[in-house]
Amino acid sequence: MKKLLANLDKEKLRRNLRLAGLIVAAYVLVVLMVLVATDARHVRFYLVDGPEISTAYGKPFTDPGRYAVSTGRITGEGEKELPVETTGEVDTSVLGTYELQYTTRYHLRSYTVTRVVHVEDLTPPEITLEYREDYEPSWFTGYDEEGYTASDDYDGDVTARVESVLLEDRVEYTVSDAAGNVTTVERPLHYTVTRPEITLEGGEEVEIPADLTFTDPGYSATDSLGNDLTKYVKVEGEVIPYKIGSYERSYSISNELGETVSVMRTVNVTPAKLPEIVQPEGRVIYLTFDDGPGPYTARLLDILAKYDVKATFFVTCLNPDYAYLVGRAYSEGHSIGVHSATHNYYTIYASEQAFIDDFNEAEAMIYEQTGSYTRLFRFPGGSSNTVSSFNPGIMTRLVKLMTEAGYVFFDWNVTSGDAGETTKTSVVLDNVVGGCSGLWTSVVLQHDIKDFSVAAVERIISWGLRNGYTFLPLDMTSPNAHHGTNN
Ligand code: ZN
Repeated sequence: MKKLLANLDKEKLRRNLRLAGLIVAAYVLVVLMVLVATDARHVRFYLVDGPEISTAYGKPFTDPGRYAVSTGRITGEGEKELPVETTGEVDTSVLGTYELQYTTRYHLRSYTVTRVVHVEDLTPPEITLEYREDYEPSWFTGYDEEGYTASDDYDGDVTARVESVLLEDRVEYTVSDAAGNVTTVERPLHYTVTRPEITLEGGEEVEIPADLTFTDPGYSATDSLGNDLTKYVKVEGEVIPYKIGSYERSYSISNELGETVSVMRTVNVTPAKLPEIVQPEGRVIYLTFDDGPGPYTARLLDILAKYDVKATFFVTCLNPDYAYLVGRAYSEGHSIGVHSATHNYYTIYASEQAFIDDFNEAEAMIYEQTGSYTRLFRFPGGSSNTVSSFNPGIMTRLVKLMTEAGYVFFDWNVTSGDAGETTKTSVVLDNVVGGCSGLWTSVVLQHDIKDFSVAAVERIISWGLRNGYTFLPLDMTSPNAHHGTNN
């Protein structure tokens, strides 16, 4: 019985277990069927560049790519690419936001994703530089804009928005469109290679003998393109040509950019060298005539020509109508020296510069008439005059200055008396003959603006020639009959 009972229980247990197994199997089967059914419906879209993109205005739109795959992992189908249909339009000729739908079908079902496409102005404007044929920017005048245009695919002509910046070696142009796209282009320039060079004739240090006028030894400026910029050179630094010393002079040229090229020169003014005095042989008379030319000068020249006697004229500018006679005298072999333009003591002895200004005026007249400058002169009143004492020491200073400047002055040792003592020709003759008689070398003072004095000249010459005198014109080496200064 026990055994029967035991067999019965075993039988029951076995049946129950089989039932449980069936239930579990059925459950598993259902779960699997559900899994397979749902797993098979997985579709995945891949959108290259993502679900929201921007594309350029005005350019053809190209879909960056999309595809769909089924994802049956459990069923072992793996990834299988599915055909995708696209709907929707992107119009790149109109700014805006567009949508594209991508659709695929799988197991009788339809799947769709959407991509947002923004049509935007993504293209920067274009700058076109214009070039002038054969144009080379000059360092001196700066860059003269050759021109440019700028256009934008959306904004159109944006030339007016271009900003240009002139730099040392280039121009930079920048423009932006309304969407904020920026373009920069460069135009290279050649200023740096065209900086001019200033060349100093005679070098950076020159030595010049003192003179009454200063002439720069010369300079030039050219750029590397061969442009002559000499006329733009600014010269600064005064040289006082009669004052011994060292002077600094600068030569510079500046351009419109404010750049400057400059060089310096030291000018050393040194005392001029005067030739040695040469004592002429025999008895010599130097006839000298001051204060002309005037109404009687032509007559005097005729007399001198008649005897082939050469004399010396210390001239003024007081009778311009007769100035041409300075030219005649010079061409006939007479010496010409400066006396004074104005012959006004209070003007010419007021200062060194006043004297020089007056002197240069007379010198200019002489040059105009003769084509030649002279280095001979006679101080109005002579070097020993005291009429200049209103300016103490002026004669001493002028004698030094003029001598250092290379000019030779003459006084006299025979006076004719025609400056005031007499108005008689016979007295003039007596004074000159008497004065010369005791001298080997005579420097005779007469005035050719005095009729009665000129009238004595023919007899003076006759007397001199008869008595073995030679008449000579003064030159740089002649005895000078200096009086010595009294002021
Ligand atoms: Zn005089």
